[in-house]
Amino acid sequence: MQAGKILLKGCWCLWLFSRSIIVKLKRFVMNNRRKFLQHLTGGIVALPFLSLHSLAATETEATGTLLQPSPEQPYAGPVLRVAIMGLGGYGTMVAEAMRACKKAKLVGVISGTPAKIDAWQTRYHIPEKNCYNYENFDKIKDNPDIDAVYVITPNALHKEQVIRVAKAGKHVICEKPMALNAKEGQEMVDACKKAGVKLLVGYRMHFEPKTLEIIRLRKAGELGKIKFFEGLSGFAIGDPNQWRLNKALAGGGAMMDIGIYSVNGARYMTGEEPVWVTAEETKTDPVKFKEGVDETIQFQFGFPSGAVASCLSTYSMNFLDKFFLVGTNGFGELQPATGYGPIQGKTHKGPLSALHVTHQTVQMEEMSDIILQNKTPVVPVDGEEGLKDLKIIDAIYLAARTGKKIML
Ligand code: NAD
Repeated sequence: MQAGKILLKGCWCLWLFSRSIIVKLKRFVMNNRRKFLQHLTGGIVALPFLSLHSLAATETEATGTLLQPSPEQPYAGPVLRVAIMGLGGYGTMVAEAMRACKKAKLVGVISGTPAKIDAWQTRYHIPEKNCYNYENFDKIKDNPDIDAVYVITPNALHKEQVIRVAKAGKHVICEKPMALNAKEGQEMVDACKKAGVKLLVGYRMHFEPKTLEIIRLRKAGELGKIKFFEGLSGFAIGDPNQWRLNKALAGGGAMMDIGIYSVNGARYMTGEEPVWVTAEETKTDPVKFKEGVDETIQFQFGFPSGAVASCLSTYSMNFLDKFFLVGTNGFGELQPATGYGPIQGKTHKGPLSALHVTHQTVQMEEMSDIILQNKTPVVPVDGEEGLKDLKIIDAIYLAARTGKKIML
């Protein structure tokens, strides 16, 4: 009896001991695997800029599909090798966000400032052979180590730069607004088509999880028949001498820079293309906002379904970043709707819970798939999409100038 008890106790201890060994072993393997994977991807991904865990979680929650491999799996697919043209404020933001990308890598720069090139070479380990200036970047056609150029310069330069990149046989990502007007935009689309390269526009919100969740609900019919969209896009602009307030470089004012978010948002939130536009412009500071540089424009759209939109674009008010979509059965709201995040959102069912992800990181991961693997995004980001916004902006300016309802 006593011997049996001792034997039972012995077995129990042995089981506990072996279990703790197994747990420790498992932990060791997991930890070292993670280290190994970090080491493996080290060339592509510098220190994780955002948690890949949260990235994967967000995507699963928001879209129901995992866009990224889990952090436990090394990425072995194709990598989009990108050169950034224009090393200013937003170019820097994109470069920093790309540190966390697996599917896209910053490998080159195009700039008119040698000191900036030096600094970027050091920070992002960019080889000399991948550095260009605005005069010689056509030579990029002879560089097999660059797949795409991301144009992040003032608006008025986009057309010529994109066409030159296309002629050099490289894919192009162009910042918004894609061009100054629809005529220019059409030339860019045509040039890229002719050259057989892809043209994408830096519409980062098209990959934002809370935005995509409202689009998913709308498509699933959960909001009922869509009736109304409200878009508020604006901020109080500072320095009166910046290029954004120079018609020749910006192509306009607030509408080209920030109002475009409401134009674009009205389309992806409702899922429709406007058939008419009305607009009214107001100017409180004609010194800062010179002829051709719009300070504030209110604009309205009518859609084929009968739904309508009412939007505000301004360079003279802060706290204006809101989208509101309402249908017969519910609503979706984003506020802030288009800032760098975190985006906040709710619907008639309650708050949206998808975690914040760095917009430009996800954008570049997705654009890699679009360019290299022909992936179709939920909301298009191609040149045709940029062109649609430009046609509407042309109509808004015409409506504001003439006071007439413009049919599209
Ligand atoms: P910025 O002024 O910070 O940078 C512009 C860069 O272009 C600078 O490095 C400048 O040296 C260079 N440049 C080249 N030629 C120039 C010229 N002739 N005049 C002036 N600068 C010249 O501007 P930014 O904020 O980086 O904006 C660049 C583009 O990115 C714009 O089209 C803007 O609309 C877009 N942007 C997009 C987002 C977004 O969230 N998607 C955010 C900010 C800016």
